[in-house]
Amino acid sequence: MQSFKAQVMRFDIITLFPEMFDAVTKYGITSRAIDKKLYEVHCWNPRDYTTDVHKTVDDRPYGGGPGMVMLIEPLEKAILSAKAGNAGKVIHLSPVGKPLTHELALSLSKETGLILLASRYEGVDQRLIDAQVDEEISIGDYVLSGGELPAMVLMDAIIRLLPGALGDSDSAIEDSFVDGLLDCPHYTRPETYQEQSVPEVLLSGNHAKIKQWRLKQSLFKTMTKRADLLANRLLTKEESRLLLELDTELALMQEQDSYNEKV
Ligand code: SAM
Repeated sequence: MQSFKAQVMRFDIITLFPEMFDAVTKYGITSRAIDKKLYEVHCWNPRDYTTDVHKTVDDRPYGGGPGMVMLIEPLEKAILSAKAGNAGKVIHLSPVGKPLTHELALSLSKETGLILLASRYEGVDQRLIDAQVDEEISIGDYVLSGGELPAMVLMDAIIRLLPGALGDSDSAIEDSFVDGLLDCPHYTRPETYQEQSVPEVLLSGNHAKIKQWRLKQSLFKTMTKRADLLANRLLTKEESRLLLELDTELALMQEQDSYNEKV
């Protein structure tokens, strides 16, 4: 039986909507990882740190303009409460942050704890960010209504990388981006669907051939969908050879296509 690190990764989340995090803690791989005590989650609601009867957490922006801005005080108190039990860095999920990638998730998966600030409205008073936030992370070039989904995306990306989180430990190794390539296509039963058969090599039982076919398919997908990934990657001899093979095959296909158009 495999044994995994005893360290439990601790996530403290600053959020107005703690219930949303059930989506991570109650379903699938991330739920099983919590059962295995690979990580734990503590939520801190800024509303619990307000002092007025309306539990106000936002106010109008100085200088005017649309939307509301989150007040410093309730957020600061919530962050300080989280910091009492978590020495990890404070991350604000924000469209202006550093883009989330596999490498970033992998490096964060080595931390023992993280405090995630999921903000709402137009955002957070900049002075709170300057004083309390160590890093800002974006999950993409688009704007969502709040930081909860981005925080959950970040958590899921990290949790599946924690040793012992995945049932079959190999499945993370073969995922897209892990070794700089996109994943190969996958097939399961039935063997034939709408007259399309599963590629023969996958039925051959020849593991070396299957491995090579999968690598070639990964290279093909990466080359045609995300050529930028290949540009940043040192290729092995085998990969260079397979890429040359793919180039030749593609050139032949193009020749055939233009011939078919003419006749
Ligand atoms: N005014 C902000 C801007 O244009 O950059 C957008 C605020 S957005 C409506 C409210 C909150 O959702 C943000 O403060 C952030 O916490 C979260 N959020 C929205 N889009 C995000 C993204 N792409 N990545 C990370 N967090 C995001």
